[in-house]
Amino acid sequence: MKRGTLLIENADFAVTCDAQDYVYEEADILIDGEKIVGVRGKRRWQANGITSKGTAEKVVTACDDSEEWTAPEVISGKGMIVYPGLVNTHHHFYQIFTRNIPDVQNLELFPWLKYLYEIWKNLNEDTIHYSTLTSLGELLLTGCTTSVDHHYVFPEGAGKLIDRQFEAAAEIGARMVATRGSMDLSVKDGGLPPDSVVQTIDEIMEDSERLVKTYHTGEPYAMRQVVLAPCSPFSVSADLLKESAVLARQLGVCLHTHLCETKDEENYMLENHGIRPLEYMERLGWTGPDVWYAHGIHFTDEELDFLAKTGTGVAHCPISNMKLSSGVAKITEMLNKGVKVGLAVDGSASNDGSNLLEEMRVSFLLHRLEKSNEAPTGYDILKMATVGSASLIGRDELGSLAEGKASDLFMIDRHQETLIAADRDPSAMLCTVGYKGKTAYTIVNGQIVVKDGRLVNIDEDELVEKANAEAARLYA
Ligand SMILES: [Zn+2]
Repeated sequence: MKRGTLLIENADFAVTCDAQDYVYEEADILIDGEKIVGVRGKRRWQANGITSKGTAEKVVTACDDSEEWTAPEVISGKGMIVYPGLVNTHHHFYQIFTRNIPDVQNLELFPWLKYLYEIWKNLNEDTIHYSTLTSLGELLLTGCTTSVDHHYVFPEGAGKLIDRQFEAAAEIGARMVATRGSMDLSVKDGGLPPDSVVQTIDEIMEDSERLVKTYHTGEPYAMRQVVLAPCSPFSVSADLLKESAVLARQLGVCLHTHLCETKDEENYMLENHGIRPLEYMERLGWTGPDVWYAHGIHFTDEELDFLAKTGTGVAHCPISNMKLSSGVAKITEMLNKGVKVGLAVDGSASNDGSNLLEEMRVSFLLHRLEKSNEAPTGYDILKMATVGSASLIGRDELGSLAEGKASDLFMIDRHQETLIAADRDPSAMLCTVGYKGKTAYTIVNGQIVVKDGRLVNIDEDELVEKANAEAARLYA
């Protein structure tokens, strides 16, 4: 007999994204606290056997495992499909309150940023509290169990903003990686942000170290992690980038920033530093398996080889890239060359939402449009949003359903009008057909945080009222 704390019993399908790409039918998943202790099914087949390029044979194998599994809490999986929790690798939660502003809808990145900084400079601890709950709420309701956030606007006297984020994440029950952003180049130094939201390198280093020492643990299954993340090469100095890299390696944490998002950025780097963005970052110590960049659109083929060789990763944000007209990241080439790629929604002001399921479908369609049958399959994109994203942020215990992995997953009810005949291949369905609803269950760290499409740990109606009030204050 095998015991756990929570048993999901007899799910129609469990798409595991495990090392063998197994999909189980009539599946059981046994969870014991923070980790999965067993996954099995009456039958199994390999997802990549029916969806990857060049193969088309689905071989179904009967499995025989009659051991008794037991837990005090049991969820019936009848009629459900179970997926590993999605991992979002780049976001700016606070931007949720400045989405859909008419004046910026037609702008590209640089003028878009200049306009919005004038609003963002008024954010405070309440803005951060409610925007974190709002963003994580939407992420949990749509299957994302771990989210990175990149907060880089620290107006003087605004309070302890990252601390408030971790509190909100704990309240709602999400796993969170806070990338401590920073800016030290304001308008007067040739940067884009106003003077009141930048900090000195000393202030940034001191607060970064405090946050790592207070919240970060490098242990598997950690609910909180900290990463150092100067905003972008056009809003921070070379010294800040260099010192951040040194401190991150001293403290044993990862590094993250925006890179190669726009042609404007490339031109800025060529004009101001005489070299391309990646070479600039490499000289400052910003490549390696502990570094991932958001966007990564304008890399040359040689630069992609260099990323693959050094293990440097890319967070792919297709909706933001389309909305700001930034370009199309070379994801097909990256995957073929072995560059680490994860998926991300980016900030809500350029998305304008926090739905990684939607991001998966858009990513699938965008690359189909460009590359036809060379493009990643629906299952490839699911893996990008699960094991790919997990690897990008150095968390290999996340993103798959297998013994020893973190107990993060979501379940959707396949018996609904919008999914009729869609589940012929559940491993690709989320991308090829798309799922527009909320999850039946989302489970993080072994705890149910969404049930029947509602957040379990907070009062959604109260959150909507208070978050709308704070959004109105900020915009005013
Ligand atoms: Zn971003």
